[in-house]
Amino acid sequence: MTVTRFAPSPTGYIHVGNLRTALFNFLIAKKAGGTFILRLDDTDPDRSKPEYADAIQEDLEWLGLTWDRLERQSDRLDRYAAAADELREKGRFYEAWETPTELDLKRKKQLNMGQPPVYDRAALRLSDEEKAKLRAERGAGVWRFKLDHERIEWDDGILGPLSIDAASVSDPVLIRADGQVLYTIASVVDDTDMGITHVVRGSDHVTNTATQIQIMAALGHDAPNFAHHSLLTGPQGEALSKRLGTLSLRDLRAAGMEPMALLSHMARIGSSQPVELAGSIDELAEDFDLDHFGSAPTKFDVDDIWPLSARYLHGLDFDTVKEEIAALGVPAPLAPTFWDVARANIETRADLPGWWALFRDGATPLVAAEDREFVAQAFDMLPEPPYDETTWSNWTTAVKEATGRKGKGLFMPLRKAVTGLERGPEMADVMRLLQKKPSL
Ligand code: GLU
Repeated sequence: MTVTRFAPSPTGYIHVGNLRTALFNFLIAKKAGGTFILRLDDTDPDRSKPEYADAIQEDLEWLGLTWDRLERQSDRLDRYAAAADELREKGRFYEAWETPTELDLKRKKQLNMGQPPVYDRAALRLSDEEKAKLRAERGAGVWRFKLDHERIEWDDGILGPLSIDAASVSDPVLIRADGQVLYTIASVVDDTDMGITHVVRGSDHVTNTATQIQIMAALGHDAPNFAHHSLLTGPQGEALSKRLGTLSLRDLRAAGMEPMALLSHMARIGSSQPVELAGSIDELAEDFDLDHFGSAPTKFDVDDIWPLSARYLHGLDFDTVKEEIAALGVPAPLAPTFWDVARANIETRADLPGWWALFRDGATPLVAAEDREFVAQAFDMLPEPPYDETTWSNWTTAVKEATGRKGKGLFMPLRKAVTGLERGPEMADVMRLLQKKPSL
């Protein structure tokens, strides 16, 4: 049984970088017919906000990335405390009292001496008296996990065989001085309790993975399969981290991006498979394979997605948008024609009301001075609506006979006068949809 999870911290809105993680885990579960868990990593009470937790769920629902189970770390604090006790009993947990400033100083010294800035384990060498003194002076310390200094190895689902020397990593702090449990241990407990089989996350978590593999082993558990996808960069390879705030899923939704376009793009960039517009999430899942991905940073350009999004809309049949079009107030008999005319001329669904307003209320005519008289004469020859599919040809034939104009000189001024635009849909369709007789 395949079980995956997406584990965002509800401390902000999720963005395209998070989406990559969510989508990969979702697709792995979907493809295997397994379980996808949404886990809210909300152990930080100051930074976690209910409105972000809600927003994350809304964003995932918008995309159709629905979860089989929702878990909140804040509901599971007793499980983490039990794991901490177990590590303490096993001699793998120790208290340390260095202040952030002291740690910083140590790191600077190490770097000056050309040494890696790894925590020197000074707290391990404290006598009981010294510890009591520090506790009296400084209160509770942080709790660090004592790594075994050996190589930590795993076969990464994307990066291949990895080997990290535990001695090059600081003993991770798992519990803060104020008692707050940190993600590193909470995640280990959750992943084992929830039977997670595959963890895909960003390559910024590689060192975490090394320490978490040891913590799992210390608690008597096997590690899941880990895979680390590359991080996204901007189109020129520049870091995206600062711009991710403007690439939140809510902003993309508000801007009218089609979910399938976004998912199709995110499921393929950074892989050896070309980006193709998929018709459904199931289709994406069928073709999804971590083997296609590499370690090189993945270039992301939101502008690549908009054409895909428009293409998705252009391909939608009437039935899928029926209700949306009815909601605009388009009369049912005209609705299929309206969709046929409008869809080729829209970038997002937000363009639809404008098109309907044009047919319902008429446009501000675009008329060149030299065409004014001609257009006035032509409008005089147009009957009152309702119009049908013959209106345009009947009207232009009559106008041609009356004025002697033909071809572009006949059609262009009329198009511009009726629609207010230089180009657009077939005029026969436009006339058919028009609810009011145009006037100057
Ligand atoms: N809450 C962690 C994060 O957002 C989860 C990482 C993980 O997938 O384990 O970075």
